[in-house]
Amino acid sequence: MRKILFVLLLLIMGLPVLAADSTIVVLNTNRMIYHNVNCQWAHKCTKNCINVTKQKAIESGARPCKVCGG
Ligand SMILES: [Zn+2]
Repeated sequence: MRKILFVLLLLIMGLPVLAADSTIVVLNTNRMIYHNVNCQWAHKCTKNCINVTKQKAIESGARPCKVCGG
């Protein structure tokens, strides 16, 4: 019984992490840096930027923006 509760606790704690990965970020395909959608640099970037999930941005090797943290 204890084991089941432990597994459930892990699942509940893991959910916010999974949700964070599916958030939309603005990926600069030229510099391979991703931004929070509210970042000032995301607003300035129109040419080389696309909206992707945070997970996809990380998978494609992009790094988080130093200003907004990605
Ligand atoms: Zn940024």
